[in-house]
Amino acid sequence: MTSTDSSAILPAELEDLVALFDVEQSDAPTPDAEREAALAEPRFGTVFTDHMARITWRRDTGWLDRRIEKYGPLQLDPATAVLHYAQEIFEGMKAYKHADGSVWTFRPDANAARFARSAHRLALPALSVDDFIGSIAALVRTDRAWVPSGEDSSLYLRPFMFASEAFLGVRPAAEVEYLCIASPVGPYFAGGVRPVSIWVAEDYHRSGPGGTGDAKCGGNYAASLLPQTQAQENGCDQVCFLDATTNSYLEELGGMNVFVVMADGSVHTPELTGSILEGVTRSSILQLASDRGRDVVERRIPLAELVAGLADGSVREVFACGTAAVITPVGRLAGGTFDHTVGDGEPGDLTMQIRTELTDIQYGRAADRHGWMRRLA
Ligand SMILES: *Cc1c(COP(=O)(O)O)cnc(C)c1O
Repeated sequence: MTSTDSSAILPAELEDLVALFDVEQSDAPTPDAEREAALAEPRFGTVFTDHMARITWRRDTGWLDRRIEKYGPLQLDPATAVLHYAQEIFEGMKAYKHADGSVWTFRPDANAARFARSAHRLALPALSVDDFIGSIAALVRTDRAWVPSGEDSSLYLRPFMFASEAFLGVRPAAEVEYLCIASPVGPYFAGGVRPVSIWVAEDYHRSGPGGTGDAKCGGNYAASLLPQTQAQENGCDQVCFLDATTNSYLEELGGMNVFVVMADGSVHTPELTGSILEGVTRSSILQLASDRGRDVVERRIPLAELVAGLADGSVREVFACGTAAVITPVGRLAGGTFDHTVGDGEPGDLTMQIRTELTDIQYGRAADRHGWMRRLA
């Protein structure tokens, strides 16, 4: 049995959540031929569907005006708070088309819960799990024709919330907008999974104790761009950050968590210290690795131990993970004083096995034994 069982019924509660959204159809939808062309060769985050979900919050009224409206530019006052103080959070998810044409998403409750935690840290109002999931379902149903059906293709969903009040004082905004936009995406690795190289930043950190590292906010990304550029100047694809207190423990990449597989088969990932983003992919991999009987260990991982392990062979595989790329093998790890190939430089066996298992669940090719999939349309 797989999750694409066509007898699966949409839960009645989801219908109720979707019904809260007023749908105003675009007066200028993309012509079919143009949409089909965009779906045939989707490039990450460049083409967007015809509509977007939107809810407005005011301090005195709470959340109101749940709607699906035409995708288009926002008009912002130059004094809009987010442009000055970066009071903004976001999420990243995907809608997958299964073989029977039904459309599903992966662990949306986890994204909704994280969105609420991020909102709390950024002094933004909490959006309920119901509104979060309802907005996604309403958008995906309206733009269902935009969900690609190609191998490893999906509709990337980007829920976000920002301070929309026009006011230069420094305090939490009294007006906030929540939106969700959607973009068809193809396989992250066109032409097969390719290992990436990683540069360990020793001069910059993406967050520190008590900072916003465990919130999914744009500000963290702004701080990661310069070190990411330096990684590229050093001939690497991605940057990996260390903890800000001791500059010695592995944290994560700019937008992906990191895993290390030891020669004894155990699977290790940095423990959540408050400055690491808790990835939904990360927690799913911990579960799948443990299901396979692997020892899974969340702990502080010293960079020195990793570098020594790559040199003496006690570290066998390294990979990064996140919704966009699922699992990315790491083939090389470099920094100011070291440069090592991981294993033989090719994607590791466990890396690829877990990658296949996870995508099989997401695309309905394997049983959803943990109840992770939620049908949207
Ligand atoms: C989104 C994100 C991840 C990955 O999280 P997933 O829920 O697995 O997509 C990892 N690190 C950072 C900094 C992120 O923003």
